[in-house]
Amino acid sequence: MSDLCIKLKDKVLGGGEITFEEAVELICLEGPLVFDLIASANWIRNTYKKNKVILCSIINAKCGGCPEDCAFCSQSVHHQTDIASYPLLPSDEIIDTAKKAFSEGATEFSIVTSGRGISEEKEISSLAETFSKFNENLNIPSCASLGLLDLDTALKFKAAGLKNYHHNLETAKSFFQNICSTHTYEESVDTVRIAKSAGFRVCSGGIFGMGESPRQRVELAFILKELDVDSIPMNFLNPIPGTPLESIPPLKPLEILKTIATYRFVFPKRDITICGGREINLRDLQALMFIAGANGTMLGNYLTTRGRASQADLQMIKDLELEVD
Ligand code: SF4
Repeated sequence: MSDLCIKLKDKVLGGGEITFEEAVELICLEGPLVFDLIASANWIRNTYKKNKVILCSIINAKCGGCPEDCAFCSQSVHHQTDIASYPLLPSDEIIDTAKKAFSEGATEFSIVTSGRGISEEKEISSLAETFSKFNENLNIPSCASLGLLDLDTALKFKAAGLKNYHHNLETAKSFFQNICSTHTYEESVDTVRIAKSAGFRVCSGGIFGMGESPRQRVELAFILKELDVDSIPMNFLNPIPGTPLESIPPLKPLEILKTIATYRFVFPKRDITICGGREINLRDLQALMFIAGANGTMLGNYLTTRGRASQADLQMIKDLELEVD
């Protein structure tokens, strides 16, 4: 077993924190040492998360037509994709979809909308009604991902009963200019801060494999750590034809597992959920995402791409002798 992995695992299990440079050393391990890293991350996950996993599901409640130019996204009007746009779905349709997701095994459900943020009064009222109905009909915390947020709107959603807010920073600050020009990194960081200050449980992570370096993956981790986010969703680029990232070469499966494992070292006690791009990028190594330190994944379809059958994921979890929390 790698001395570095043993030393840092013991440090984390003893209540310590790894440094930025130590995280860079971990994510840069190569060859057989990668499996030492994965095994060590598994040890940390098992210590703090036991054999429990969470399963998130989402609805794309308002699709396409987005004026922002995020380079990975098929919903941007700046890119030539064949996405079908539609306006904000009515509350009842969202609640029915959430009920179906729970019946299929999901433990969390997030309402996601395209666009810079929600600012129209009509949409704010409709979403507030949805959050209220969600709480009346379902016995789990409501979650939403609605873009950039101001405090006034955040407090309206909080008063309507929304419990969790999701907003990805997407990538490291030093790489963000390659991904988006229509909003700033600071605006996204502010949204996370506002969501925290409004009292939401905040879920924030990114997309890996967009051309950033391993060091920049660690940079994102330490920004999220500083922001004290509660849960970290990790996506791996599924290049969509017609977007500027359509030809980016995919990350290798072991590169992905190293990234997940390093994040578990940085966030020993937080929820780490593997989301978009896992099927296409990890292929037969999907089950190893949990051994590499994740304690959650997404069930069903992603925002604009299809996931695999829920039954296959539930069987994978059962075969690993993990339990849905
Ligand atoms: S990621 Fe969100 S903000 Fe960016 S283009 Fe897509 S829908 Fe718009």
